[in-house]
Amino acid sequence: MSAPESATHNPIDIDPGKCVRCDFCDWICPGDLIYHEDGNKEKLPVVMYPDECWYCGLCQSICPADAITIIFPEEMIHNKTDVVSLLGKVVK
Ligand code: SF4
Ligand code: SF4
Repeated sequence: MSAPESATHNPIDIDPGKCVRCDFCDWICPGDLIYHEDGNKEKLPVVMYPDECWYCGLCQSICPADAITIIFPEEMIHNKTDVVSLLGKVVK
């Protein structure tokens, strides 16, 4: 039996108790990744294309209710990229 595929990482968490459904995050996302149905006060905005988020933080910055938390993926927090191999040697 093969291992289950990992779930898609959700790049932002929206606190339903704080969100006032203003749609600013939907409006400002430079990748147009966030969607919220106009005038729907029941549902929260959702990230339609989570894999395309580049963690710019604009949605969090503009949120008037401080409802958004950016959830950085593990590989961004503990980056294992060998930068010297990738970009060339360090010149002193
Ligand atoms: S962090 Fe940037 S790219 Fe990601 S959902 Fe928010 S505004 Fe869009
Ligand atoms: S900007 Fe903040 S308060 Fe407005 S819809 Fe997005 S998460 Fe909700």
